[in-house]
Amino acid sequence: MSLCSKSSYDLVIVGAGMVGASLACILDRMPLARPLSILLVESAPIDLDAPPAQPSFDARSTVLSYGTVSYLRELDMWDGLAVSAEPITHIHVSDQGRLGSVLMSSREQGVDALGHVIENRLLGSVFNRALAAAKHLETRSGVLVTGITPQQAGMQVTLGKGDASQVVDASLVVLAEGGRSGLCEKLGIHRVEQPYDQEAIIANVAFSVPHKNVAYERFTVNGPLALLPLPDMDGQHRAALVWTRKGGDAQALIALPENEFLDALQKEFGNRLGMFTRVGQRHSYPLKLVTAEEQVRPGLVLLGNVAHSLHPVAGQGFNLAFRDTMRLAAILAVAHDRGESPGAIDNLQLYLQQTITDQDRTAAFSDYMTQLFSTNHLAAVWLRKFGLFSIDLVMPLRRAFAKRAMGLGEPRVKLDTSTY
Ligand SMILES: Cc1cc2nc3c(=O)[nH]c(=O)nc-3n(C[C@H](O)[C@H](O)[C@H](O)COP(=O)(O)OP(=O)(O)OC[C@H]3O[C@@H](n4cnc5c(N)ncnc54)[C@H](O)[C@@H]3O)c2cc1C
Repeated sequence: MSLCSKSSYDLVIVGAGMVGASLACILDRMPLARPLSILLVESAPIDLDAPPAQPSFDARSTVLSYGTVSYLRELDMWDGLAVSAEPITHIHVSDQGRLGSVLMSSREQGVDALGHVIENRLLGSVFNRALAAAKHLETRSGVLVTGITPQQAGMQVTLGKGDASQVVDASLVVLAEGGRSGLCEKLGIHRVEQPYDQEAIIANVAFSVPHKNVAYERFTVNGPLALLPLPDMDGQHRAALVWTRKGGDAQALIALPENEFLDALQKEFGNRLGMFTRVGQRHSYPLKLVTAEEQVRPGLVLLGNVAHSLHPVAGQGFNLAFRDTMRLAAILAVAHDRGESPGAIDNLQLYLQQTITDQDRTAAFSDYMTQLFSTNHLAAVWLRKFGLFSIDLVMPLRRAFAKRAMGLGEPRVKLDTSTY
């Protein structure tokens, strides 16, 4: 049985999660003189008539920053997503039991929304449909990449499905497999892990008062808690909860009966959304900061969670990966139009050079927020108080904070590569 149609591709993308699927869709939409031949391999089955099965598109919700949404608009992918996405017009940041708080608004920033919240399974459905409709892309789902071997030029990729296997050549392998399949380790690439000793509880919750498109970020003695506005459903006001707790606490909360869980949440969050009335299925994610020690090699690039996995407190992980993806796509498009191999190390190093500052700044922003707001050490409490007050009072600081949250900290990537 043949697992794909050709024996050689310009690009093999491993993983059709949020990041691999994004790269495939972006490249398919880029105005190239001649198309790249791309194979996208996903181990989970993709069935357009069923909810997405890739782990990226599970019960979570994602904040798409203003920057990501504006790229999706330009790529003509936003209309399909907009119907299911809820705009964030205000971000309210507060510290439990203390006076300091920040309210940022889209009006102050001169935009229609600071970002949008979308449920991952809906995001996945739109991405999977876009993959199915892509003109220059071959997608193989339910197929596992079991090996990647460097060649004189490019890589040899081994695919497997049940008893069948097949080997294909690729000028460039984009590893977007999330970091759990062991391929990185097989290639001898070390990923540095810094556990936070925290887990994120995620669930959809309903409450009695409309959220008015406010995203709440509340820092409590037990860890940060975010409530992200979702579209109303069946007359119920809803938000996506991301509640960070110490590992043991998270499991205990998940095991509570619904009414006790809602009481605990009410106590922690307060009454800004009235009374919590329901909670959907609860899931937990262990949290760690992970960074790969190498992101590019000849014929290889790491993208998304496998390259860097951040704490979700600031909602930056996918947004950062999306900007990485845009930069990589633009560089590959230019290289291809010049007749250069997509896997040429000079271009991959150029990509890394263009993206590393954004990665470092975004990881530092997320890590700083996590460390600062996860401790009750007196110095941190004062810094928080001072920090939130000063951000609230000093306009340039508010702008800087909002700019990073909106994903606008770095120069914009141009999609029309003929202008490069
Ligand atoms: C609780 C939580 C909340 C978050 N909220 C936000 C947010 O609001 N905003 C934000 O920007 N980010 C957020 N993030 C981060 C975001 O979810 C990640 O950045 C994103 O999921 C990374 O996607 P990925 O495609 O790199 O990896 P993955 O989601 O892990 O996808 C990898 C894909 O590769 C496939 N695969 C794996 N191995 C193989 C193989 N050998 N062969 C073929 N296929 C393979 C898998 O099946 C999977 O589909 C959050 C994260 C968490 C944990």
